[in-house]
Amino acid sequence: MQALIEQLVKLQSIDLDRARLNQQMRALPAEIAQAHARLAAAEHQSAEASAALSREDILRTRLDREIDGHRKKAAKFRTQLDDVTTPEQAAAVEHETNFETTEAERLENEEYASLERTEAQEAALAQARAQVELMAAELEGVRARVAARQREFAAELTSLDTAREVVRSAIEPDWLTRFDRTAASRGTGIARAEKQQCTGCRMGVRPQVWNQLREGEILPCDSCNRLLYFDLSMQPAPKAPQPELPAGTGRAPRKPHQEGA
Ligand SMILES: [Zn+2]
Repeated sequence: MQALIEQLVKLQSIDLDRARLNQQMRALPAEIAQAHARLAAAEHQSAEASAALSREDILRTRLDREIDGHRKKAAKFRTQLDDVTTPEQAAAVEHETNFETTEAERLENEEYASLERTEAQEAALAQARAQVELMAAELEGVRARVAARQREFAAELTSLDTAREVVRSAIEPDWLTRFDRTAASRGTGIARAEKQQCTGCRMGVRPQVWNQLREGEILPCDSCNRLLYFDLSMQPAPKAPQPELPAGTGRAPRKPHQEGA
């Protein structure tokens, strides 16, 4: 019976290791996805900076055309000044000339502001492009690391599978069925009994069952159905452990009562 307990405990340990490995393997693609998302975000920022630069370019082309138009009109009005005959006409032409000149200057200021924005956007674009390169390199690194870990995990799984088959072949099919059934529903199929409790579900164990377990038997837990065993290699647990009390104090007077209970 002791050998069976050892095999079942070993099988459970292997099964838990396999579950942990499989879980870690399933988490690996997420690391690539996250690195990919960081690269996409950097690429988006780079595209935004590039688009902003294009918009300023288009704006300045339009401003150049408009400034040119106002300058031309101002020049035309100035030539008309030679042909005017009355002071009212002269004032009107001068007013038009001033308007065109002022508009041209206002648009030139706008163009200057656009050039200043462009300078900042060029810096932002350079930074965004550097970030894209950085994130692309990071993604490659993550891919390589993930691939290496996938290979490690696969190798570990293979050796666990081999060990699992060896252990299973040493256990009677009947016990395997009982173990597998509970493991499938509870995650684990065997649990140590300790301090008259099932360590799988923390429920108490009947005194009769507890005694049988301490004699080396394997019995199902009444609550969770896990196969219970008592670890003979461990010191028998005291029936009423009181670790908070210093040895020799408070304990002695209770002992006769306990033993009589
Ligand atoms: Zn239990």
